[in-house]
Amino acid sequence: MITLDALIDQGLFACPRCGSSVRHESASWRCSNAACHYAKNPFPVVSGKPALVDFEKSVLDVGRLRATEGASVMRRKRRLPRPLLRLLEGRNRVAPLAVARMLELLHRDAAEANRRPRILVVGGGTIGSGVETLYSDPDVDLIAFDVYESPVVQFIGDGHAIPLADGSVDGVVVQAVLAYVLEPWVVAQEIHRVLRDDGVVFAATPFMQQVCEGAYDFTRFTDTGLRWLFRGFERIESGAVAGAGTALLWSLGYFARALTRSLPVSRIVQLAFFWLRHMDRFLDPRYAIDAASGVFFLGRKTARPIAQGDIAKYYQGGFPAG
Ligand SMILES: [Zn+2]
Repeated sequence: MITLDALIDQGLFACPRCGSSVRHESASWRCSNAACHYAKNPFPVVSGKPALVDFEKSVLDVGRLRATEGASVMRRKRRLPRPLLRLLEGRNRVAPLAVARMLELLHRDAAEANRRPRILVVGGGTIGSGVETLYSDPDVDLIAFDVYESPVVQFIGDGHAIPLADGSVDGVVVQAVLAYVLEPWVVAQEIHRVLRDDGVVFAATPFMQQVCEGAYDFTRFTDTGLRWLFRGFERIESGAVAGAGTALLWSLGYFARALTRSLPVSRIVQLAFFWLRHMDRFLDPRYAIDAASGVFFLGRKTARPIAQGDIAKYYQGGFPAG
């Protein structure tokens, strides 16, 4: 990962309110535009990291951020022993392939331009499933932010107003984030903005999944819905992350939970039906897309977005045309 100091030296930070550059002087972070609110009111610093957030237009709350100061933790603690968790969740087979493809493309572009690829992880406070190689690649400048402080972020930010300059990164990874933001289309526009021309995005998001982030869980996407969200990108690959068997397994667990109000009972039911997940490999991929547990999109930024009249032609599922 690139250090915060190196990021400051590269002058990539932009004010989340007005887009002007952000100045870092004597431990204070301010907008360089004298007319901006954040010129006189510096951005807060939480555990040594700037919170570059326009708090008037964010669900993020400066008081809550301050309350967690010093309690830097990796979220999503495991509730089950690892072997049982592996039985239920399996291995993410899509993300490692998509990330490998992204790295291959960006390394090739970077070699031609004689520089290192710069990749941004939106919602990168926890290292996502199957994207570990991004973090271990010594030839990538990796930038990560999230709505909370963690050892693997350089700053705190809100995806609705990414505090980076236009065209400042070569790749963006946004995994298990778009369902948990209020306005995913705004976040997708921001990703498009911070990517350079021909930059690469990898997005993965839940489709047939129950609420899993409580009060901060807002939206689900079909495969076609995710394609429309990233209409300003040329498709490299897209489809289901996990199929209908995985979706059914989680549905049974949530059904048992609703019936008994018991998380342990829900877990026992899921463990009894863990084999459903393995049925995914026998499903027709077209029908699996219509009932997938999650969907993904890998694409390159383009100046020619898909038109409204053309989006239906994209459909990859099993329903007959017409
Ligand atoms: Zn500003």
